[in-house]
Amino acid sequence: MRILVVEDERGLARALKRGLSAEGFSVELAGDGLEGLHLARENRYDAIVLDIMLPSLSGYRICQALRAEGNWVPILMLSAKDGEYDQADGLDVGADDYLTKPFSYVVLVARLRALMRRGAPERPAVLAIGDLSLDPATHTVRRGAETIALTPREFGVLHYLMYRRDEVVSKVELLEHVWDAHYDGDPNIVEVYVGYLRRKIDTPYGRRSLRTVRGAGYRLVDDQLA
Ligand code: CA
Repeated sequence: MRILVVEDERGLARALKRGLSAEGFSVELAGDGLEGLHLARENRYDAIVLDIMLPSLSGYRICQALRAEGNWVPILMLSAKDGEYDQADGLDVGADDYLTKPFSYVVLVARLRALMRRGAPERPAVLAIGDLSLDPATHTVRRGAETIALTPREFGVLHYLMYRRDEVVSKVELLEHVWDAHYDGDPNIVEVYVGYLRRKIDTPYGRRSLRTVRGAGYRLVDDQLA
């Protein structure tokens, strides 16, 4: 079984590698977030042990990015010991399990084995909400059987809203995830793109799935639910 450990505390990372290798696992280490994400994208691991506080990219962001790409490798998150981050946050972004530092090595191995027994759950790569579907692999969006042509930016906005379905997503979050964290233009650009999207995914079909939540942001819902 192949495990990726993303942990910037070198002592802990080395101890984990030594211990897990002795258990018969094949272990690779990444000491910063971007390197961890890169390895996780390039290789097929049976599980990832992911620290939250990392240089360059947090464990949350790594987890979120992998899930958004349809990568469901089992992830065990390690939290900072000061309790600044809580379990709910980790599980929210798609982690499968969670351990608070300092943790017992025996417990870590037991949890990892349990995760790998379960394996990566079969989760649909295609995101769907009601009769609206989005396939990240082929960049295809459909309302019912009809294919809808979107620009890359429109696709990005819809992808993120579908990933966060039923939740209120703020303009700032959309800017961070679809444009980039350093975008410093007019945040109203989000409103413009939401308008474009509505005219493609809702208006022609007489639908209201992309809602504005005044003062808070946007929410994508299944508007045909009773
Ligand atoms: Ca750390």
